[in-house]
Amino acid sequence: MSTELPVINHWIDGAIRESKSGSTAPVYNPATGQVQANVALADQAEIDEAIASAQRGFEVWSEFSMAKRQTVIFKFRELLNERKPELAKIITSEHGKVLSDAMGEILRGQEVVELATGFPHLIKGAFSENASTGIDVYSIKQPLGVVGIISPFNFPAMVPMWFFPIAIAAGNSVIVKPSEKDPSASIWMAQLWKEAGLPDGVFTVLNGDKLAVDGLLNAPEVQSISFVGSTPIAQYIYETASKNGKRVQALGGAKNHMLVLPDADLDLVADQAINAGYGAAGERCMAISVVLAVEPVADELIEKIKERIAKLNIGNGALSPEPDMGPVISGVHRDKISGYVDIAEADGADILVDGRNFKVDGHEDGFFFGPTLIDNIPLDSRAYTEEIFGPVLSIVRVKTFEEGVRLINSGAFGNGTAIFTNDGGAARRFQHEIQVGMIGINVPIPVPVAYHSFGGWKASLFGDAKAYGVHGFDFFTREKAITSRWLDPATHGGINLGFPQN
Ligand code: NAD
Repeated sequence: MSTELPVINHWIDGAIRESKSGSTAPVYNPATGQVQANVALADQAEIDEAIASAQRGFEVWSEFSMAKRQTVIFKFRELLNERKPELAKIITSEHGKVLSDAMGEILRGQEVVELATGFPHLIKGAFSENASTGIDVYSIKQPLGVVGIISPFNFPAMVPMWFFPIAIAAGNSVIVKPSEKDPSASIWMAQLWKEAGLPDGVFTVLNGDKLAVDGLLNAPEVQSISFVGSTPIAQYIYETASKNGKRVQALGGAKNHMLVLPDADLDLVADQAINAGYGAAGERCMAISVVLAVEPVADELIEKIKERIAKLNIGNGALSPEPDMGPVISGVHRDKISGYVDIAEADGADILVDGRNFKVDGHEDGFFFGPTLIDNIPLDSRAYTEEIFGPVLSIVRVKTFEEGVRLINSGAFGNGTAIFTNDGGAARRFQHEIQVGMIGINVPIPVPVAYHSFGGWKASLFGDAKAYGVHGFDFFTREKAITSRWLDPATHGGINLGFPQN
């Protein structure tokens, strides 16, 4: 480890906490390929310290009145809204996505903060007067305690914001374990919470790798885990946290298809395929990676997509004028994407536009991968069945709507999908028959707004707990049902050992 580079530490007890673990991981600027900092990797002592601080934070925060909690959340929202360009710069420098896209992710996270400002309405209980003679029944919702949030590299601000505004509003304290590839966004948000008046210990950032994750999974004090990342790790998190008696939200990977019917406007479709396939260099869990063209439109659509790829500007997302697409997250990931294109080629696919060995002038060491377009990909090729998570779009030709639906439903994942058509009946049938959690009708990246919930089906989500919306408030609270009678001589029934009846 170079001693000149800054170290990104933990945030514990409302302040930066220098790590003494002696273990770090490099944080790159993907556009230059240079290491710009090292992130601390927590050891067990630091994990224990973070949990103990979060427990103290919970004891204080859960006793704040709802009105006082609301004031803090409103303040956080105002500060975030004012200062989000700072956060966007941090995201671009560690993740690589272009600045306007970083801003877009913050806005989608801010939506959840805005939803959380209205939390009293969403966690109020219910009251039934006179459920039985003189007996009232009511329910109240209480926070869980210390909750863990483990996030992926691709949305370093938005994904933590899918969870923590709601968790905090509901009275919990949170420990965020960000991706070790881009951890600074979480530290920035921790500082913002402090300025907003959140008591120390309610928002903790624990940097680390598998050791930190396992520390949260195994700690009895941690009541729930909210995870977003790749499918194998989501499954591991779901199984381990469940075994340890915790609530779990576990969102995994994706392979999202766009079904194009012959009546669709192909210029609109080509624009949307480019946006959804290559935006954020394809590193979005809702990116489109397969265009299913119902013949006879494939050849025409391919020409339109190729024309648009030729005009894309790829470069350092922090520079002005802003390019359309930045680099991918790491050299290792770039090589993995390249390996999938090799597999497709070896399996007999046609590589129509080849992004392997792509270089950007002046940024020769950056982790760039050019937009790639593949045709005639065999359906048993791993490049078709597995998630690539890069700027690679495959075209699959189908003869009918039904064949397209069958193909989508036969896949392992069920995160997002889209249909492009002007036929309302076909769209309605699609939404009914498709085995996918989030569906776009002429919308390529159908990420639900904050007051609906986010979650896929099959290998894209383990268990049944979705992120944010009403699901989020249910997840971060537990309910008590109270049956109450105020005894008076008129309603007191005397001794009766039978089971209570109405
Ligand atoms: P990842 O699974 O490698 O890492 C996610 C988190 O898990 C990180 O914080 C990481 O430190 C931790 N982790 C990694 N390996 C671990 C292990 N063996 N044990 C315990 N913890 C471990 O995912 P990533 O590469 O950061 O993110 C990309 C993936 O996330 C893609 O598969 C993408 O589809 C998925 N994703 C899904 C959604 C969704 O909503 N479904 C959203 C965003 C990203």
